Amino acid sequence: GLSLQAILETVEQAPVAISITDIRANILYVNSAFENLTGYTRDEICGKNESLLSCNTTPLEVYRDLWRTIQSGKVWRGTLVNRTKTGESYLAELNIAPVLDAGRRITNFLGMHRDISTLH
Ligand code: FAD
Repeated sequence: GLSLQAILETVEQAPVAISITDIRANILYVNSAFENLTGYTRDEICGKNESLLSCNTTPLEVYRDLWRTIQSGKVWRGTLVNRTKTGESYLAELNIAPVLDAGRRITNFLGMHRDISTLH
C-alpha cells in the first residue's frame, strides 16, 4: 500500500485548497494550494478560524445551513465569497466534510475549495 508519508505528500500537493480544522473550524493544517489561493502561509493561518476567509457579505442563513449540515455528519457543498490576505475577493466553491472517529463522533472537519471566479 501507500505509506503515510506518500499520503501526506499527496494531500500537500493536491491541486485543490485543503484545510483540516477542529470542531470549531480552528485551522490545524492547510496544504500548499490553500496557501497559494488565500495568500496566507500555514504559519500565519494555523490556529486562526476559517471565518478569517469570510468577506462578511454572506447571509447568516448560509452559515447556519453549513453548520447544521456538517454537524449532522453530512457533507456541505456551496459557494461563498471569500477574501484573500490582501483583501481581494473571490468566489469559492466549497466542500466541507466531517471527519469521524471509530465511534462515529466528529473529530475534525475537512475543507476543500477552489476559486471559480473566472468561470463566471
Ligand atoms: P459567525 O457569527 O461565527 O457564524 C455565523 C453562523 O454560523 C452562526 O450564527 C451559527 O449559526 C453558525 N456557526 C458558526 N460557528 C459555529 C459553530 N462552531 N457551531 C455551530 N454553528 C456555528 N467560511 C467562509 O466564509 N469561507 C470558507 O472558506 C470557510 N471554510 C470553512 C472550512 C471548514 C472546514 C469549516 C468547518 C468552516 C468553514 N467556514 C468558511 C465557516 C466559518 O467557520 C464561519 O462559520 C463563517 O465564516 C462565518 O463566520 P462569521 O464569523 O462571519 O460568523
